[in-house]
Amino acid sequence: MDTKKLEKLVRNIPDFPIKGIQFKDVTTLFKEADALQELSDGLYEMYKGKGITKVVGIESRGFILGPMIAHRLHAGFVPVRKFGKLPAPTFSESFSKEYGDDAVYIHQDALSANDVVLLHDDLLATGGTMLASVNLVKRFNLKKVYVNFLIELEDLKGRALFDPSIEITSLLKYNI
Ligand code: AMP
Repeated sequence: MDTKKLEKLVRNIPDFPIKGIQFKDVTTLFKEADALQELSDGLYEMYKGKGITKVVGIESRGFILGPMIAHRLHAGFVPVRKFGKLPAPTFSESFSKEYGDDAVYIHQDALSANDVVLLHDDLLATGGTMLASVNLVKRFNLKKVYVNFLIELEDLKGRALFDPSIEITSLLKYNI
């Protein structure tokens, strides 16, 4: 995978949605057919042979590559969503953000103890969203959990929040 070329296709939007945030806009990457193909092939090569049975994508930009990876791995896809979106009984996990609290939800019947799960989101910033999602899927006593991000903002050191036993990968890395 030519990660330098892919990194250049991500558009940086300063001060969005609030002042001080360097927003990584992945729409300019995903609209390029060759880039999307490279991402799909690259992720497949990274995770094939690991016995992944479910890819869990985090709302909302984890819903773009997540189902694509699931399809390539012949795994199922499960959404982790924000409040009020999932219709059946849910488990939830709260977490603190810079401004106030947030929570993530998953259907209670979405996973089982036989599953090997790949959690995927578009971006690792402070890590709060993914840490809550890891804690959420732990309720199912899964066989194993892997974590993948398309983008890692390395300066924010979100990776440090996670137990070192969890294998975390990111495809594109930026210092902000
Ligand atoms: P965090 O919980 O701080 O790791 O934030 C990760 C979540 O917020 C991901 O779902 C991202 O989509 C979004 N996010 C945080 N910072 C950015 C950023 N600079 N550019 C784009 N999305 C971001």
